[in-house]
This record gives sequence, C-alpha cells and structure tokens, in this order.
Amino acid sequence: MADKFDLVIIGGGNAGYIPAIRASQLGMKVALIEKREGGHLGGTCLNVGCIPTKALLQTAHLLHDAKNGEDFGVKVGEVEFDYPQAAKRREQVVNQLRKGVQGLMKKNKVTVYNGVGSFVEPKKIKVETSDGEEELETEHVLISTGSAVSTLPGLDFDGEKVISSDNIVTNDESYPGSVIVLGSGAVGVEFASMYHDFGTEVTIVELLDRIVPLEDPEISEALKKEFEDRGIRVLTSTKADPESLEKTDDGVKITVAGAGSGEQEETEGEGGSYGGEDAPTGEASEADGETLEAEAILVAVGRRTVTEDLNLDVTNVELDDRGIIQVDEYGRTAEDGVYAAGDVIGGYWLAHAAGHEGIIAVEHMAGENPMPMDQNLVPRVTFCRPEVASFGLTKAQAEEEGYEVKESKFPFRAIGKALIEGEPNGFFKIVADAETDLILGMHAIGPKVTDLITEGVFAKLVEGTPQELGMTIHPHPSLSEIVGESAMAVEGHPIHF
Ligand SMILES: Cc1cc2nc3c(=O)[nH]c(=O)nc-3n(C[C@H](O)[C@H](O)[C@H](O)COP(=O)(O)OP(=O)(O)OC[C@H]3O[C@@H](n4cnc5c(N)ncnc54)[C@H](O)[C@@H]3O)c2cc1C
Repeated sequence: MADKFDLVIIGGGNAGYIPAIRASQLGMKVALIEKREGGHLGGTCLNVGCIPTKALLQTAHLLHDAKNGEDFGVKVGEVEFDYPQAAKRREQVVNQLRKGVQGLMKKNKVTVYNGVGSFVEPKKIKVETSDGEEELETEHVLISTGSAVSTLPGLDFDGEKVISSDNIVTNDESYPGSVIVLGSGAVGVEFASMYHDFGTEVTIVELLDRIVPLEDPEISEALKKEFEDRGIRVLTSTKADPESLEKTDDGVKITVAGAGSGEQEETEGEGGSYGGEDAPTGEASEADGETLEAEAILVAVGRRTVTEDLNLDVTNVELDDRGIIQVDEYGRTAEDGVYAAGDVIGGYWLAHAAGHEGIIAVEHMAGENPMPMDQNLVPRVTFCRPEVASFGLTKAQAEEEGYEVKESKFPFRAIGKALIEGEPNGFFKIVADAETDLILGMHAIGPKVTDLITEGVFAKLVEGTPQELGMTIHPHPSLSEIVGESAMAVEGHPIHF
C-alpha cells in the first residue's frame, strides 16, 4: 500500500525544506524527497551556493583586513593564507547547518526520502532510492527542484581548468593563481572579489556594457571602479569565443571580441541575481581580438532549471521555452493541487525568495490567506567587496512604468560609522513615487548594505514613506544612519550632506 500524505515536496532546497516546516505547523502530513548524494538537505544554497561561498568570502574579507590593518594601528607582520584551512572551515559551517536542517525535519515530523522523485499521476509520486522504489499518495505536491550550473557550448566543465561555482566550493586543496571570470552577475563578481583578495590575478569578461547588469547603472559603474582600483581587470561589452578555448599545460587561453560582433550564445538560465543574463548592447570592447590566458576560466553565465527527472508529461504542469515552470502568484501550476516554488519558477533566483514562495504555496494549499508573491519586495544581494543590495524599481524602470519619480543618493563618506570602519565608498539611493510618496525601490553599494536593505523592504511592505523612514531614529554611530539620511534626502533635507 502506498504511503499517504497531505503534501509531497520534491526537492529539499530552500523552496522545499522551509515550506515543509510551515506545512507541518499548519497540521499537514508532509513528505520531502531529496536526491542529493548523502541525502543532504538545503539544496544549492546550503551545499554549493550561499553558505559555502559566503564562508569563503568571510576568509577573503579577513585576509584583506589582516593585510590592511596598519592604518588602524594593527600590525600583524607577514600575513599567510592557508587555503585548505579556509576550505575546512567552509565545510564545518556547511555541515553544522546541514545537521540543523535535519534536526528541524525531525522536530516537525517531516518524512524525508533520499531519492529521485517523479510523477506517476498528478497525485501519486514515485521515489527511487538506493533500496528500490516506493509510491506516495498525496493531496498536494510542491515542486521545488531548483536549478543547476549551466555553461556555453564548447566550455564543458572539467573541474580544473574550466570551472563552475560548484567546483570552487567543493575544492579543498587549492585555488588558481590567475582566473578569467566569464559573466558578472552575482556569482561572477563574488568569486572575482574573493579570488582577488586571495591574491589571484582576475579578469572579468562581461557581454553587456556594465557589470552586475541587473542593478542600477550607477551601481555597476561604482563597482567597476572599485574593482579596477583594486587591480581586477574588467572587460565589458566583451564576448569570449568558446571555440577559441585552448587548454595548455599551465591553464587556458581564450580569445575575446567586442560583444556587438557575431552571434550571441545564450544560456538557459533566467531571472536576476544568481540566475542568468540579459541581451548585449553592441558597445565596443577595449580587448577586441585579445587572447586572454589564465590558470582557469570560471564560467558564471547563468543557471538552468532542473525538471528532467519529474516526468511532468503525466501532469498539466506547463514550462516555458527556458524550462521555467509557469505558476500564478500563489505558486499554483496548471495542474490542480500541484504547486511550484523557488528557482524552478524563475523570478529572482535567490534563497530567501525561494523559501518565501514555498511558504506562500503551502499556506495557500492549506486554505490560509497568504499575501501573494511580490517580486518588488525581494531584496537582491551580492556579497562582493563592496557589497551590493537593492529591491524594487530603479528610477528608469519606474519612469518606464509611468511613475513620476523622486530619487535621492546619499554617500557613505558622510556617515561617521563608515569612516570608522574604513569603508567610506559607496552610496544609498531611494526611489519614491512623487505623487503618493510610496517607496518604489532602493539601490545601494557599500559596507553591509546586504543587511541595511531590509529596513527599506519592511518600509515598502507596510507602505511606509521616505518621511517615515526619515523620522525613524537610527542609532549613532551606525551604518543604518544612511537609510534615514537617504530618506530625508528624498524630501530634499538630508542633515549630513
Ligand atoms: C554560487 C552561488 C551562490 C549563491 N549565493 C546566494 C546568496 O548569497 N543568497 C541567496 O539568496 N541566493 C544565493 N544563491 C542562489 C540560491 O542558492 C538559490 O536561489 C536557491 O538555492 C534556490 O532554492 P531552491 O530550493 O529553489 O532550489 P535548489 O537549492 O537548487 O534545491 C533544489 C533541490 O532539489 C533537488 N532535486 C532536483 N530534482 C529532484 C528530484 N527529481 N527528486 C528529488 N530531488 C530533486 C536538488 O538535488 C536540490 O537539492 C547562490 C547560488 C549560487 C550558485
């Protein structure tokens, strides 16, 4: 007899294990299926994404601080970098969190299967484990099978010279002395920043005319300047020719050209942040015809959705031509009782968006009345140095949508705490509707902006105005003062600038 559940979730990443907990809190009997080796839950984010990358970036920041402590009166002599130890710590953090997620499943009485999940019928799911097959009957299904690295034809990953983000965060031994980073979305710039702090020679190759191309253009410009000042080479409007890739004894060679020339290669990924890219603009490249050489090439051009094992043909679930599962604002697919959440439904390919979408889906299937998903409330975060964060619309996007816009820009150099921390570069922007005063978006580059942005998201959620943010008393000295100052600047009366 098949086991019976109220909900079967396929995929144990953020869009899977988080809603599993919420569904259990709502009284549902829940099964969670995860195919990853070792049965590790947490998906891309915990195993090969957010967590291991940020653990390595923390080492990179510390290394940078240790080398630059003299200004603060801290002399540490010659600073040594022990990569295997950094990798060991990365794994310790990942393992501790894996155990935590496992414990949460137990606490919430979620039945976890380690195997591949697929549809037999819309309400019958097969799990293939190493011990055989099992069928689960269910009222509801949540598909949260996420995404995987993708590459360009001709740039197959070998894990050594042609590498992916997965390869970097599972390498315990070494890192390249020089690297070409193909693509400058969140993944590309985070690894570029990290490697440069490790002492690696870094060249970024970006097809579009600016790096972090989904961010406000002034942020792209500011980040490019910061990177170039640090010694990272940044080639925008530049296309690498995969056919020219040559593996040598020492690494790789690849020829680049202006992005305007020839046909464009497209990746399968979409969405913002840790997802895919946009169309090129055809601007000239300073490196047209140059052959770049490095020990490795990191291909960070996007990701693809994972749906191949699901046997979706027996359902009415619809995919678009990029493999994105089509859902409404509650995560409902075209098949009755079948929902989807996370990277597999497109939108912003971010862990917190994935978890939130999953919660909305299970609350909706449980008959609650959740607020529908609003992509404008998703904070987009990039943890390079300096950090980048934003949500909602840029000024240009808001104007395109017909808003009459007011915008502020407030610099970190006017914030005491930024000077104290030795990070005076960067700025905070607030975009608001001139007619209603409602906040439309925020865009920031500088110290800890990935934390600071949340205050703005909350203000937008509760339909707050810049005046109210400006009236909020921020502790002094703190970096958060920049939120209040930028809010007052929208009204034309910042205090410290
Ligand atoms: C290098 C990198 C860094 C990142 N850093 C950040 C960050 O700092 N902040 C942030 O918000 N986001 C970050 N992201 C993005 C984030 O990891 C994803 O948005 C998030 O993991 C999406 O969660 P998900 O549950 O939708 O999918 P996934 O995390 O991909 O999980 C899907 C799971 O489903 C399993 N699965 C697939 N098919 C089946 C099947 N048929 N049966 C059983 N199991 C199946 C997979 O094994 C996987 O574990 C990063 C991504 C990368 C690659």
